[in-house]
Amino acid sequence: MRFDIITIFPSIFESYLKESLIKKAREKGIFEVYIHDLRKWAEDVHQTVDDKPFGGGNGMVMKPDPIYKAVKEIKRKGSSKKKVILFTPRGKKFTQRKATNLSGYRQIIMICGRYEGVDERVAKYIADEEMSIGNYVLMGGEVPAMVVLESVSRLFPGVVGRKDFLGKRKVKDGFLEYPRYTRPEHLKIEEKDRKVPAVLLSGNHKKIEEWRKKRGKIIK
Ligand code: SAM
Repeated sequence: MRFDIITIFPSIFESYLKESLIKKAREKGIFEVYIHDLRKWAEDVHQTVDDKPFGGGNGMVMKPDPIYKAVKEIKRKGSSKKKVILFTPRGKKFTQRKATNLSGYRQIIMICGRYEGVDERVAKYIADEEMSIGNYVLMGGEVPAMVVLESVSRLFPGVVGRKDFLGKRKVKDGFLEYPRYTRPEHLKIEEKDRKVPAVLLSGNHKKIEEWRKKRGKIIK
C-alpha cells in the first residue's frame, strides 16, 4: 500500500513522518508514504499553482492543470486498486467505516487544497471522491491528509502493536472505544480521591469485558 500526498507545503509532513508508529511502520515496509510538492508540476518560472477566481471574489483558487499532471504521473507509480481523494469541507464525511474501506486500496492519492479552494474540475474529473474530515473549515488539506493516513494505516497488521492487537476491539467495521485507566490506583484531584473502577482491579475478565462494552462507544 502506498499513500501519495500532493501539497504546496511538503515540509509540514517532515517531522510528522519521522515520529512514532508511522515512522516504525514505514521502516518495516508495511506501507509507503510519498509527499509531492505540487509546484513541481507548475509550468511557469514562478511555479504558480493558483490564480484569481473567474467571476470575481476574494482570494485565489488552485489551478487544475498542475494537479491533473501530478495525479496522472503519480497514478502510474501505483498498482491496481487506487483512489484519488480531494479534501474539501463540503465533501463526504470521513468516518472509521470509510477508513476501513480505504485500507483495502493499494494506492491512495490525496490532494490537499489551500487558498479559497480548488478549481471545480478537479472534483468533477480528476478526483474519485471529495472528502471532509468534519463540519468546519481549515486552512488546508494537510491536516485532513494526516488524519486519513493515520486512521487507515493503523488498521494494517503490525502498525499498532502485535498483529492481533486491534482484533478484540474490532466490531464489524468499527471499534469499541472504552475508558482506560493506569497507575496510580488512587489519585488526589482537588482534595478528592479519584480511584480506578473496582471492576478493573477484580481480575474477573468476563466482568471487565461487560463493563467495557457497557461504558464504551462503538466508533464507525
Ligand atoms: N471554500 C473552500 C472550499 O470549499 O474548499 C475552503 C477552502 S479551505 C480555506 C482550503 C482547503 O482546506 C480546502 O481546499 C480543503 O482542501 C481544506 N479543508 C478545509 N476544511 C476542510 C475539511 N473540513 N475537511 C477536509 N478538507 C478541508
